[in-house]
Amino acid sequence: MSTSPVFLPFTKPTIDEDTIAAVAEVLRSGWLTSGPKVKELEAQLSSYFGGRPVRTFNSGTCTMEIALRIAGIGAGDEVITTPNSWVATANVIIEVGATPVFVDIDPKTHNIDLNKVEAAITPRTKGIIPVHMCGLPCDMDMLYALAEKHHLRVIEDAAQAIGSTWKGRRIGSFGDFASFSFQVNKNIMTGEGGCLVLNNEAEAKLAEKYRLQGVSRTGLDGIDVDVLGGKYNMTDIAAAMGLGQMKHLEAFNAKRKALAQHYFATFGNEFEAQTGVELPVADWNHSNWHMFHIVLPESVSRAEFMQKMLDMGIGLGYHYRAIHLFTLYRERGFTDGMFPIAERVGKQIVTLPLFPSMNESDVERVVSAVKSCL
Ligand SMILES: *Cc1c(COP(=O)(O)O)cnc(C)c1O
Repeated sequence: MSTSPVFLPFTKPTIDEDTIAAVAEVLRSGWLTSGPKVKELEAQLSSYFGGRPVRTFNSGTCTMEIALRIAGIGAGDEVITTPNSWVATANVIIEVGATPVFVDIDPKTHNIDLNKVEAAITPRTKGIIPVHMCGLPCDMDMLYALAEKHHLRVIEDAAQAIGSTWKGRRIGSFGDFASFSFQVNKNIMTGEGGCLVLNNEAEAKLAEKYRLQGVSRTGLDGIDVDVLGGKYNMTDIAAAMGLGQMKHLEAFNAKRKALAQHYFATFGNEFEAQTGVELPVADWNHSNWHMFHIVLPESVSRAEFMQKMLDMGIGLGYHYRAIHLFTLYRERGFTDGMFPIAERVGKQIVTLPLFPSMNESDVERVVSAVKSCL
């Protein structure tokens, strides 16, 4: 009798019993919405990011929208971003009434090609939303030099980059706005959630308004509303999860890195040349190894490859399809061929399993399955 192999998903959160107990405690406390746990999480995040102001929200997406609003970016403005991201990155630009302008990606890092940004700048360009894809940071020196030269606000989509560093400094601890996601697949999670690192207390106060209907207090029994905000606050239930996850962040990231190193060692030096598959950039200094991507050669059908891997009990993801080819964006004038590198990567990329509770034998199982499915 044959037994089917244990299913290995491409990602899975690691949640300890203390965190489950802490969530139960919040549920019993009677205070479920934003309260002391949110404040505690914001304080911890602020110290994690070198003392900069941090506010939490109910998603990573809304943090970018709010950063754009704080920056005063809206109708008539253009914002440069990458076509290789989760669609949220571009959607927020449209959401505030501005126009997304895509710039193709670097074929190796899969981040926005900063060498091509200047050609896309016009007098209407007010901001740039780069993505630190899979936790591999953009070249921060080049990014901020460009931003300074052209007076652009930077909203770093650091959704995947908590714990990533640039030349020894944490992403989010310097620069302009940095937006992080705590969606369940990210390196730490709160079920759903996110945080925004801001530049000063004035911006932080504005972020608080935008996250709760534009309300500010005017005394014990008074409020006023002077900007149009939404409903984006984090609950204490989610914050309790975040506090539990924060305790393990460094260990989670260290485990991810060790597993990524094991992927490289197991694939071996000849793998790329023999198969035409592209492995990720082996950056052991900067990345938090949020995901481990491979790009299949165009001769391999991704759908068939994913099905074969699934038949062997291995779940894969694909991150991401090029944003400009979605219907909403085609309707705004984008077409095939505009950003060929993002399009090729978007068609051929697959995400291999990588999460902290995996072990080395899981990695070996994935690698041998990849080799046999090619
Ligand atoms: C996860 C993610 C987002 C969105 O975060 P949510 O918390 O799901 O709103 C945005 N950009 C990138 C690159 C992401 O990975």
